[in-house]
Amino acid sequence: MVTARAIASSALARPQRPAAREAAPKRLAILGATGSIGGSCARVIAESEERFEVASVAAGRDGKALARYAVELGAEFAAVADPAGYQDLKEGLEGSGVEAAAGPDAVREAALRPADLVVSAIVGAAGLAPTFAAIAAGRTVALANKETLVCAGAAVMEAARRANSLLLPMDSEHNALFQAIGARDPESIVTMTITASGGPFREWSAERIAAATREEALAHPNWVMGPKVTIDSAGLMNKGLELIEAHFLFGVPPEKLDVVVHPQSIVHGLIAFADGSLIAGMASPDMRTPIAHCLGFPDRIASGVPPPDLAALGRLTFERADLSRFPALGLAMDALKAGGGAPTALNAANEVAVAAFLDRRIGFGDIARLVAKTLAMMERASELFAPRDVAQALSIHHMAGERTKRLLA
Ligand code: MG
Repeated sequence: MVTARAIASSALARPQRPAAREAAPKRLAILGATGSIGGSCARVIAESEERFEVASVAAGRDGKALARYAVELGAEFAAVADPAGYQDLKEGLEGSGVEAAAGPDAVREAALRPADLVVSAIVGAAGLAPTFAAIAAGRTVALANKETLVCAGAAVMEAARRANSLLLPMDSEHNALFQAIGARDPESIVTMTITASGGPFREWSAERIAAATREEALAHPNWVMGPKVTIDSAGLMNKGLELIEAHFLFGVPPEKLDVVVHPQSIVHGLIAFADGSLIAGMASPDMRTPIAHCLGFPDRIASGVPPPDLAALGRLTFERADLSRFPALGLAMDALKAGGGAPTALNAANEVAVAAFLDRRIGFGDIARLVAKTLAMMERASELFAPRDVAQALSIHHMAGERTKRLLA
C-alpha cells in the first residue's frame, strides 16, 4: 500500500536528485483556494514564484475572491462549486485570460487538470469527490481536507494504492508525523501521538464549556483557521478526526494512537519507537510550514516562517486530554475503535451540528450530544456498516446528516 510512511521511506532513501531548480516549474491545482489554507498556499508560493505554476483553482461559492486569487496566482482555470458564484467569478476574470466554470463537475475538472500536485483544502465532505477523483487518477495529493480520510478512509487508501497516488499530509500534526517517521521501519512504532493545543476552553469547567458562545468558541489561542475547524478544535473533535485521519494515512491501529494536550503548539506530532526513542516534529504554529513541506516535497523550500526559538519560548508543557470535559474527543475515539461506518457518521453528524452552532441554533454542549445521539440511532438501525467505496461512504454520510437534522428540528 502506498501509505504516507512508505512514501517517506522511499523519498528519503532516494539518492541525490538532479538540480531541481533547473527543472520545469511544479504545476499545482489548488482546491479550496479562498479558505485559510488556500491563502497560506498563496503566501508560500510567493516565496518561490519561479518554482510553481498554477494550473487550476477551485472554491465553494465566493466567485469574487476566487477570481482575485486566480489572477494573483496566474491560474489557467478557475471553478466555483456553487453556480450562484459564477457571475462574480466571470466578471472578476474578464480580460484576464483565466477560464471560468461552475458546478461540481467544474471542480472535478479543476482537480483533474494536468498537475504535479493537487492541494486538497476544501472544507468538509464537499472535498471528498474531487479529492478522490485526483487520487484515482494517480495524482500526488497534498491532503489538508481531513474529511476525505475520515469519511472514506479505507476506500481512499485503497484507491491511492491502486492508482499509485502519493498522499502528502498537509495537516500540521500529520505532516509532523510524516517527517518524524523518516525511513524507519513502521513495525517499530510503539505509539503515534498528536498534540492538541487544548483550544480556548482548556481550563474551563464542563458546565462553562457547554454554555460557551459562538464568539468564545471561535477565539482560538494559537491557530488562525476557518470557522468549522476552529469550532472542532474548541471541543477537541478536531483532534478526534485527526486520530482517525492518522489511522488511515499511516496504517497505525487505534490502540497505538494517542493525543496529548500541549498548549504552546510547538510540538505537533510524536512517534515512540521500540527502543524507547521519542521523535518529535516541531514547528511554529503556522500552516505555511506544513504547506511548504508539501509544496516543495521532496525538496525543502522557504515558508516565510522561522523555526521555533526554544530558549525564547522557555518551556513546553504537556498534559492529558480530559475526556469528561471534552466528550467529542471520546466519541471520535470510540468511532475509530468501532470502525465500519462509525467515523463516517461521526463526521457527518458533527458537520451538521457545528453548522447549527455557528447559526446560533444550538449550544456548544449540544454538538457532542447530537453526534452521540445520531451514532446511537444509526447503530440501532444497523446503518453503521463499513463503506466499501466512496458512494457507500457518501450514503452513510447523507443518512447521518439527515438524522442529525431531524434531531435538530
Ligand atoms: Mg491539525
